[in-house]
Amino acid sequence: MKTVGYAAHSSEANMVPYHFERRELRSNDVAIEILYSGVCHSDLHTVNGDWGPQPYPLVPGHEIVGVVQSVGADVTQYKVGDQVAVGCMVDSCQECDQCHNHEEQYCREGMTGTYGFPDRISGETTQGGYSKHIVVREEFVLRIPEGMDLSKSAPILCAGITTYSPLRTWGVKEGSRVGVIGLGGLGHMAVKLAVAMGADVTVMSRSTKKETEAKALGAKGILASTDEEAMTAAANAFDLIIDTVPTAHDINAYTPLLDVDGSLVIVGQVGPTGELNSMPMIFGRRRVAGSLIGGIAETQEVLDFCAKHNIYPECEMIQMDQINEAFKRLEQGEMAHRFVIDMSSLDVA
Ligand SMILES: [Zn+2]
Ligand SMILES: [Zn+2]
Repeated sequence: MKTVGYAAHSSEANMVPYHFERRELRSNDVAIEILYSGVCHSDLHTVNGDWGPQPYPLVPGHEIVGVVQSVGADVTQYKVGDQVAVGCMVDSCQECDQCHNHEEQYCREGMTGTYGFPDRISGETTQGGYSKHIVVREEFVLRIPEGMDLSKSAPILCAGITTYSPLRTWGVKEGSRVGVIGLGGLGHMAVKLAVAMGADVTVMSRSTKKETEAKALGAKGILASTDEEAMTAAANAFDLIIDTVPTAHDINAYTPLLDVDGSLVIVGQVGPTGELNSMPMIFGRRRVAGSLIGGIAETQEVLDFCAKHNIYPECEMIQMDQINEAFKRLEQGEMAHRFVIDMSSLDVA
């Protein structure tokens, strides 16, 4: 199937129109016409080559929303016209303990990422959502709940699940004290989701500049990491801290804020984080952990949760040809919202 998207051809991260083929439908495949595609910070990192060499040309995008265009002969869950989504993975072995445990992101053979990974059968490089169409095996297709606004749902597929999964794993409930470091694409979703779970949420940021935004999202306020007095006063005040900052930073300032048995979960930054002080961890049985997206079943759960609680990411709609400008703005700093590409702005001709 011929399609068109925007691809990076080198680590310069300059995205240009790119015509390519999607595979012929296998019997368990769903072909999707993409309507909206979220812009994730990791798209930028990946095309920049920050996380290692990439198989260019590369079409990024793993927050995908659209409608089913056709299905393979053995597909039972989806039919033409259904509103569907695809997130950060498109395949896994389906046979190991992690896959059986619905944690395909931790598949023992490695999950197949939505872009930049070799397809498990053909070996060709997977290409992501900055395109008109995608073909994905049925097991990795999500359903958009009825009545949900498609134009605002895409960021749930990465920013949403990445923050929802640790909130669930660490048992956040009514009255839980949750801190969220950073108020970007991930952070603002963490706040909305934790608030909907009944938690008391505080945003942690360098300054109180975004206090109004934080409160509008449902947080109690901002704890400024530069305010020594406030940081000292907040010792032992949190059960869980979700760290969404996408760049290297010192986490030692935050661990003392956890109560006994509290956990700080890193979801934003991939790579070395500097020297870790074990003192607050030992004196308080505090934990520092990480978490990667979520399984397919849990991704469906967060979509359903957002539909039920009327939660949407804050989205700024852009045209496909504004993507390079959007990347620049992402690089310049956090915004408490997500860019979403209106794929109808990409002309197939
Ligand atoms: Zn992402
Ligand atoms: Zn597996």
